[in-house]
Amino acid sequence: MILKGFTALNNFLEKPRNIVVVGHRNPDGDAMGATLALKHYLDKKGHSATVVVPNEYPAFLHWLPGSETTYRFDWQNTQSQKAINASEIIFLLDFNALHRVGDDMQNTLEKYPNDFAMIDHHQQPDDVKYMYSDVTICSTCQMVYQFIEMNNDLDLIDAAIATCLYTGIMTDTGSFRFRATTSTTHRIIANLIDKGAQNDKIHNNVYDANSYNRLLLLGQALSNLQILPSYNTAYITLTSEEKKRFDFQKGDTEGIVNYALSLKGIILAAIFIEDSEQGIIKISFRSKGTFSVNKFARNHFNGGGHDNAAGGKSNISLAKTVTNFVSLLPQYQTVLETSYEN
Ligand code: 5GP
Ligand code: MN
Repeated sequence: MILKGFTALNNFLEKPRNIVVVGHRNPDGDAMGATLALKHYLDKKGHSATVVVPNEYPAFLHWLPGSETTYRFDWQNTQSQKAINASEIIFLLDFNALHRVGDDMQNTLEKYPNDFAMIDHHQQPDDVKYMYSDVTICSTCQMVYQFIEMNNDLDLIDAAIATCLYTGIMTDTGSFRFRATTSTTHRIIANLIDKGAQNDKIHNNVYDANSYNRLLLLGQALSNLQILPSYNTAYITLTSEEKKRFDFQKGDTEGIVNYALSLKGIILAAIFIEDSEQGIIKISFRSKGTFSVNKFARNHFNGGGHDNAAGGKSNISLAKTVTNFVSLLPQYQTVLETSYEN
């Protein structure tokens, strides 16, 4: 755990400040939950906080309290730049390095004259002035809760903040099942329910909001699933054409990789998704046990993340990316055979 400049940050926040809160590109439930919860909290402390996200986030997160106040950097560039220029500090939430916001926004942030405060649970964080980094914590939302707790401000958590934090903890833990989910996580979740998070509604809003086309896309993904039994590996591919056929919307592929990991005995799962807009193959990796997909993604696919959930990208074709992936597996055969002992 790294806690850097905490007292200095609190001193800085003694006066009402103009603040921008930023999440990573392709924001997920944890990024949106954490940025919005922190915004609500800072506003309650008398500051004026604005959430700026690099690009679009899935429709199943649009209901989050305060979602309508966020700016999208790619789409509402003038308002976003204005908010950033007017801010006295920027909070960086749920990402560890400036490049994770994407090129355009990274350029803007690199020229930012004031300080950054990072709250994040990814490995190898960039060094910024104020930091709360802990790679053992399941979600940035749990860290935002603990940041509020460190400030002795748990009383300020209202239903809106509780709802945002619950959502991020729920999505980043795969509904409280991944290894980083601890008894502390469950105690925090219990407190959030007491503070007004309606757990049944949140699960419903996030997980039971499928379109018919999304289910058809999932069906396509499952029929594309390939299993490599000798490496305890399974992977899924989706082409641009398949995405188009089922009217792909942002967020539609979220979680699909977990179906590959749900196969009995599978240690390593991947999904390769063609993104013709960006001209890349976006990859998600998931693993069980000691096989670190963070290292695997860093070493081979220009990415990173956590030990058991990471992502990356490739600039070659989908077919070549898959061939490359498969060709890497023999060097990991031993760890893929022993990674997870029941
Ligand atoms: P997902 O597969 O759900 O997109 O991401 C899983 C985890 O890996 C997340 O914590 C995410 O922040 C991280 N991640 C995903 N893609 C990338 C990437 O391209 N680079 C890095 N450094 N991390 C990524
Ligand atoms: Mn996260």
